[in-house]
Amino acid sequence: MKKFYFIFLIISLSIAFLGIDKANKNEIRNDEIKLKVDELISKMTIEEKIGQMTQVTLQVISKTEGTVDQKFSLDHDKLEEAIQKYHVGSILNVYNVAHTVEEWHSIIKAIQTVAVEQTRLGIPVIYGIDAIHGATYTKGATLFPQAISLAAAWNRDLAFQEGAITSKQVRASGIAWNYYPVMDIGRQPLWSRLWETYGEDVYLASQLGESYIKGAQGENYGAPDKLATCLKHFVGYSFPINGRDRTPAWIPEGMLREYFLPTFETGIKAGAPTVMVNSSEINGIPTHSNYYLLTEVLKGEMGFEGFIVSDWEDIKRLYDRDRVAVSPKEAVRMAVMAGVDMSMVPYDFSFYELLLELVNEGTVPITRIDEAVSRILSVKMQLGLFEDPIPLPDFESAFNNPEYEQTNLQAARESIILTKNNDDLLPISKDTKLLVTGPTADLLSAMNGGWTFTWQGNEERLYPPEENTLLEALVNKFGKDNVSYTEGSSFDKILNVEEVINAAEKSDVIIACLGEPAYCESPGNINDLTLDEAQLSLVEELSKTGKPIVLVMLEGRPRLINQIVDKCEAVIIGFLPGMKGGDAITDVIAGDVNPSGKLPVTYPNSPNGLMCYDYKPIEDFDVNRYNPQWPFGYGLSYTTFEYYDLKISDKEINDGDDVSVTVSVKNTGDRIGKEVVQLYLCDVFGSVSRPVKQLKGFEKIELKPGEVKQVSFTITPEHLSFIGRDNKRIIEPGDFKVFVDELEASFKLL
Ligand code: BGC
Repeated sequence: MKKFYFIFLIISLSIAFLGIDKANKNEIRNDEIKLKVDELISKMTIEEKIGQMTQVTLQVISKTEGTVDQKFSLDHDKLEEAIQKYHVGSILNVYNVAHTVEEWHSIIKAIQTVAVEQTRLGIPVIYGIDAIHGATYTKGATLFPQAISLAAAWNRDLAFQEGAITSKQVRASGIAWNYYPVMDIGRQPLWSRLWETYGEDVYLASQLGESYIKGAQGENYGAPDKLATCLKHFVGYSFPINGRDRTPAWIPEGMLREYFLPTFETGIKAGAPTVMVNSSEINGIPTHSNYYLLTEVLKGEMGFEGFIVSDWEDIKRLYDRDRVAVSPKEAVRMAVMAGVDMSMVPYDFSFYELLLELVNEGTVPITRIDEAVSRILSVKMQLGLFEDPIPLPDFESAFNNPEYEQTNLQAARESIILTKNNDDLLPISKDTKLLVTGPTADLLSAMNGGWTFTWQGNEERLYPPEENTLLEALVNKFGKDNVSYTEGSSFDKILNVEEVINAAEKSDVIIACLGEPAYCESPGNINDLTLDEAQLSLVEELSKTGKPIVLVMLEGRPRLINQIVDKCEAVIIGFLPGMKGGDAITDVIAGDVNPSGKLPVTYPNSPNGLMCYDYKPIEDFDVNRYNPQWPFGYGLSYTTFEYYDLKISDKEINDGDDVSVTVSVKNTGDRIGKEVVQLYLCDVFGSVSRPVKQLKGFEKIELKPGEVKQVSFTITPEHLSFIGRDNKRIIEPGDFKVFVDELEASFKLL
């Protein structure tokens, strides 16, 4: 017995020691880095320091730009000029085209060789890239569902896996800095970057962003398969009042703190060491010049210790677009003094030259420069770039890995949302005769969207032929003889209606694949959320045949389809399910996968009915109603779930207490299925009007037919808090309601 206790003691002590050891190690490493950074800064000239704050794009150091038809080649003279003359500390990716891993290695090796071996201090370059749904710019990478679809899966583990696999493949390409995740909240459905967000809800987006960062960075983002993430775009970028990309947002302080800052706060707590600035403006102040937000809130209140990078050309824009600066030089002064540490210039060295003048004139104090450089160098050191600037040749295992493909397929499958299924039309048996039609049926680009091999993602010929479009996947599953295909309509023009109607008449079921082409940023701006008339009329015409229609939407934002929903027996919202989207949707149609995706945004039904689910009581009063096409959190399954026994640990709690909630869920149907159990909270009375409900917990569970699981949640004081009249986070006593599915319970905060 004594021996047993002794062993137990040793084990416990070792566990405790290991725990302390890990925390200690990190602290020691941080202290060491601080000392090294200070020492390095003390040796640097002003020019070398300002160079560290300068980021140019790959085109600046290239002979031939990489495009779809042209191979990229480096210009060694320009590279030397950038690094030796201008001391450039960072380079960002050319947006034009994806490279092979070998090509990446030779590019990064060339850059780092000059930086490390041919400069006085040997400071490595930090290379940044937009690896948005996987290693976007590396050929052969695993390309996951885009964020909006990943959010539709409501699965933290999948977000974690995406982060881990992406970082492995980006780092294997020799790149250590990823401009991701997007922590903007998607509350403006017109916005052309909605699909880059995790949807409209603060809690869901925070949870998924946090999981992604943890997967991407691990315990130490300097590990050889990890990288530094970048939270973007700080802050309010996603809420343009007119819906167009890079246009003004008007966000009162309380709203900013309630809806737009918390995801960034979560990302910083999760350890993200860099933040990119909102390209646009809030409340009339271009964010790149906003001292209050960048320095007081982000670096001050939120305790952000990493560095802030500008977005594309946005410091210049303070002068030549926004006209808050009267000269390019004043623009540089404003941005640097507002708190921007690194400028994505990106085409020239003007930032370097102007900042140098400003420092020499004494208009920008050297203390501010030292602060920025110290932040940048710390990240470079944490990344291990000083030790291993040149990419390691061993990258094979990061690619062609069947496990990654499987994770990607699972992510795509879990992201598919079934929103309508009249008379259980779906799933359909594999001997059904299908007519497949519509502009998104045979395009991989329509399932992947922007940031796929190219910026706009619309170069279909760059997509891997071995991946299946929806049409190809349907042919594989239902057999060539059972599937006929007629395009019917392009994205904006009706093509061959007669042909498509004839084909429909010979089929049992029509699969109408509609939606949007791939796009990204401002080129994706639209004037009308309604789906193009041509596509709507394709379905109208097809409905006249009386054949059942399964509508599949592949799109980056919820395009309005109210006009045709009644004409379709089933509707699948696929958003942008990534490279495995065709297989995943086919699995759902055929019933090999039971759908479990839930909407991460409200799906509106009219151009002026753009409301989010966490609306205020006044929006549900008199004639005002939340009456969308489908609400946030909605999605059907081929099985049924019964919720019962909602229990709350305490009917009354004191300030600072947690509340435990449990609920039982039973699969009452005859198929195995996954369910997202969602917990919403309502603060019944508040000194500012409180949303009718807010998501504060979710768990995705799998249940066999007849199986019951009990799901537990903890409501913490943070969940009860909100931004009060004086724009500070507060908790007020009073009644709270808890909703899970149709069940309701309540408790009181004394
Ligand atoms: C986008 C950013 C992106 C950057 C670098 C900008 O246009 O707004 O999201 O990271 O370009 O490619």
